[in-house]
Amino acid sequence: MPEVIAGIAELRERLEPARRRGESIGLVPTMGALHKGHARLLGTARRECDLVVASVFVNPMQFDRPEDLENYPRTMEHDLRVCENSGVDLVFAPAASELYPREQLTFVESPALSAHLCGAHRPGHFRGVATVVLKLFNIVQPDRAYFGEKDAQQLAVIRRMVDDLNLPVKVAPVATVREEDGLALSSRNKHLTQEQRAIAPVLSWALRLAADRIGRGERSVEAVRREALELFAPYPEARVEYFEVTDPLTLQPLERIEGPVLIAGAMWLGSTRLIDNMFRP
Ligand code: AMP
Repeated sequence: MPEVIAGIAELRERLEPARRRGESIGLVPTMGALHKGHARLLGTARRECDLVVASVFVNPMQFDRPEDLENYPRTMEHDLRVCENSGVDLVFAPAASELYPREQLTFVESPALSAHLCGAHRPGHFRGVATVVLKLFNIVQPDRAYFGEKDAQQLAVIRRMVDDLNLPVKVAPVATVREEDGLALSSRNKHLTQEQRAIAPVLSWALRLAADRIGRGERSVEAVRREALELFAPYPEARVEYFEVTDPLTLQPLERIEGPVLIAGAMWLGSTRLIDNMFRP
């Protein structure tokens, strides 16, 4: 089993000799409930770094709904097995009181990047994400940090934070792992009923249809959206929160498609919210 460390000072002490030996350190931040998507991040880090640290921390600051935080799956024993199978060296699993010993008065904000997509519907979410990731970067001081393309807006926010704040870390994006029917793996998929699970891949189908239309030369976002949204019609239980075609770097919604785009969507099934996206070069 990988070594599990809950304290910041202890982790720093444990990492110091490796750093002095010139070993490269890879960090994979997670909220646990690990699945094959996380395993791909861990496996990529294992191949590219001498020492792999996975963090498992359900970050209260990034939850905009108390019931989502409360119901978030916590599966530590299983997570440790996934980490072991992926060759993780150290698991950093702090209590909330370790990362937030007193009221946090300093935050990382990226208002322009958080104005649309998930940011428009989850107030404070990306501020919570960017703030905790900066804390983790400062605690672990990794050479490389791994993030899934599944959370495209999160990836964009982190990349820009690293650039704008001159952080000495390389952000490594990892492709989305999907079920055979297209559904992107997510810890929240556990909450789906059998009926909801059967409907869930429709979001990925709509994204694929949109990417396909753009690939065939459609330039109007309105036309692409209209066609993609029709796919949801047979499934009234699936409530689309947003379905947008945006600039992949600024995440601003587009009207005309004239270059690479990020197509991103969010959908509710009951009280479970699922997101997915596709990049179209
Ligand atoms: P989470 O535990 O949901 O915060 O996710 C931790 C990391 O795993 C994030 O960088 C996610 O983007 C990434 N991730 C989550 N699901 C997937 C997936 N299906 N494929 C690839 N990466 C993923």
